[in-house]
Amino acid sequence: MILNWFWSTNGLNISKENLTKLLQIATKDQLFQFNGNLYEQNDGVAMGSPLGPLLANTFLCYVEEELNNKNKLPSFYKRYVDDTVVVIKDISEAQKLLTTLNSCHPSIQFTMEIADNNSLPFLGMVLNKCGNKIETSVYRKPTNKGLLLHYQSHVDVRYKKALIRTMLHRAHNLSSTKEAYENECENIRMVFSKLNYPNKMIESAITYFNKNPPTSRSEQPESDASDNTIRIVLPFIDQKPADIVKRQLTQLNKKLDSNLEAIFVSRKLNDMLKMQEPKPPLVSQQLVIYKFQCGLCDASYVGYTARHLHQRIDEHRYSTIGKHRFLEHGLKTVPPTDSFTVIKKCTSKFDCLINEMFYIRSLKPTLNVQSDSVRAKLFV
Ligand SMILES: [Zn+2]
Repeated sequence: MILNWFWSTNGLNISKENLTKLLQIATKDQLFQFNGNLYEQNDGVAMGSPLGPLLANTFLCYVEEELNNKNKLPSFYKRYVDDTVVVIKDISEAQKLLTTLNSCHPSIQFTMEIADNNSLPFLGMVLNKCGNKIETSVYRKPTNKGLLLHYQSHVDVRYKKALIRTMLHRAHNLSSTKEAYENECENIRMVFSKLNYPNKMIESAITYFNKNPPTSRSEQPESDASDNTIRIVLPFIDQKPADIVKRQLTQLNKKLDSNLEAIFVSRKLNDMLKMQEPKPPLVSQQLVIYKFQCGLCDASYVGYTARHLHQRIDEHRYSTIGKHRFLEHGLKTVPPTDSFTVIKKCTSKFDCLINEMFYIRSLKPTLNVQSDSVRAKLFV
């Protein structure tokens, strides 16, 4: 049902088989480099992959469904990504559930935390059991030092004000009682004072927030799809010029009835000093026209690959090149990397096809004769 909705909204029509194939392409045989060496990940989802959270969730939902079918899940079981809260009779039952969960799959390694003095941290908040009610408040790790953006930081003041609002928002959302919220406000005052924020700024943020508490998600108006704001990204030099630019843009917007907005970004010192990781030569390149030169005779070959060149080199063990190496030189191995050179870096697959044809015509590589006729059919 959900998929049908997704397909029709996005004008797609993908079969289950093709979707599986696409997911496999997007997640399997992922390459990454470390210390100049190229590695292939053979288990798990690549760190930072947009599909990561989705696949992790799918995987755990599958496990949970299996357990639920076997009646092995407790009546109260709630999970967010990898954090789960469970209500269970006693510690030995909890231990049993932990063992069951961890035996579902070798990749699953849950650990367990038991409520201490009726309180338990979960998802950045503390759950407090008061009689038969659960109250919540903001959770701070014992290691939290209140290190947030300092008031003297070289960034637009807008971000500093937004940070106070964010912290208030969090306090508001995670506190189930007025008392818990007020305690958290007190803590916010302390944290931001230590970071040198002017008291006036802190107080006015709190007053404004309390007068205009955020509406719950369901009450929020749908975001305006016709948002015609044009955002201009500018380097943050100093607060004064930034304020002048903002003022001028406001005036300009009135005159032109436009919606221009300046976004000030600061470059981190770290980024400026960071060393570029050395790229491994040749093998890590994608979308390239390459030339193979036999090395033992004059034979050569020109081809393109949309993938990483080293993957293509592996395959050449069985292609025209492999055949040549075997028939002419009795070699069965993968052709050596140094017999390949990149002639051109392309921008798209189409670009690759055009350039490949062009280079085959001009360089006349001896081993391309057969594949030429195949390609000719493609372009008829
Ligand atoms: Zn040769």
